[in-house]
Amino acid sequence: MKILVLNSGSSSLKFQLFEMPQKKVLVKGLVERIGEQTGKFKVKDYVVEEHIPTHKEALKLLVAYLLNPAHRLIKTKDEIKVVGHRVVHGGDEFVAPTIITEKVKAKIKQLFSLAPLHNPANLIGIETAEDIFPTAKQVGIFDTAFHQTIPVQNHRYAIPEEFYQSGIRKYGFHGISHQYVSREAQRLLKKNDSKIISLHLGNGASATAVLNGKSFDTSMGFGPMNGLIMGTRSGDLDQSVVFYMMDKMNMTSAEVQQILNKKSGMTALAQTNDLRDIEERFFQGDRKAALALEMYAQSIKKYIGQFAAEMGGIDALVFTAGVGENSNLIRKLVTQNMKFLGIEIDAKKNKIPAAHDYDISAKNAKVKVWVIPTNEEQEIAEQSKELVESIG
Ligand code: ADP
Repeated sequence: MKILVLNSGSSSLKFQLFEMPQKKVLVKGLVERIGEQTGKFKVKDYVVEEHIPTHKEALKLLVAYLLNPAHRLIKTKDEIKVVGHRVVHGGDEFVAPTIITEKVKAKIKQLFSLAPLHNPANLIGIETAEDIFPTAKQVGIFDTAFHQTIPVQNHRYAIPEEFYQSGIRKYGFHGISHQYVSREAQRLLKKNDSKIISLHLGNGASATAVLNGKSFDTSMGFGPMNGLIMGTRSGDLDQSVVFYMMDKMNMTSAEVQQILNKKSGMTALAQTNDLRDIEERFFQGDRKAALALEMYAQSIKKYIGQFAAEMGGIDALVFTAGVGENSNLIRKLVTQNMKFLGIEIDAKKNKIPAAHDYDISAKNAKVKVWVIPTNEEQEIAEQSKELVESIG
């Protein structure tokens, strides 16, 4: 069964075509700068650069690529039986993979105010795919869904009930990734009652406590700005800072958002969000880079401590996403001085590049520390397949 996975952003579209159940990636690529003067369609070294006005034109380019006999991918569009869409915000509504219907689209629309940057783009992707692949089943996979198991004591904020009733609570994000890597970790641990902390460290970053396979707490909240220090986002911050910026520094809410979302985090501390550059400067003795890395690692340690305390222990720690999979320096800084929790890594094992899941924990350490490359697209393909098969 061929399943197309789409991740639609406001000006981009990432895609992967899978042959399931083999989980074989037939093709993957992306379209960038949709709506801008020159857009780009890219599959490996096949690149088309031209004006791509809309997501619909982007998908048409993809279809033309797929149907091109030289690429030997599909003969007709109908071969694509399922299109799986990543949807960032599913609110309280969506706790599992969902077949897209008019009602579902209306609900995704209602959630625009909670995810103004993402959900509108996700909906455009869905509507365009319905248009272009009319015979395929469209499935929504929600980034918040995995976190819907977080119990009330961990998802409610201590503010008046009326705000909770109107939907102000912790939702959490990166759920597809946390679910994928924590399931892998649970499989490797070979036990069902498990206490896992997964660290998704990409440009956006979050930590999740996974208790017995279910999300129990996570570092992001109502929106994706708090928790860990990220590439351009501040992470946890005292609320009074926001009031001070607005009331005493005469900034508008949009200006404050811009600062906390785009100009904070590693960008504020080290003038770039690319950790590779920061590491290079650190090794050359740059003190700003050293402080930035220390603060970054410290913000992660805080959540490891918190989650271990909340779950009453920890069996495994998982590093994933761009930084987690590639930076042995961050893995070293995060795990150092944590023997008291049973976390101890083997410096040699930590240096091997991550090709697949691997164990970097020291011999006899109580806690397993794994590097598990995330695969959100494969997770979306699998969840979509399971749903479509279950309804026959
Ligand atoms: P996104 O959230 O955009 O999907 P990724 O998961 O691709 O992000 O992670 C991007 C981050 O990973 C960047 O900050 C980048 O610097 C970092 N990164 C990628 N490769 C390395 C590396 N070899 N060493 C350190 N950091 C890396």
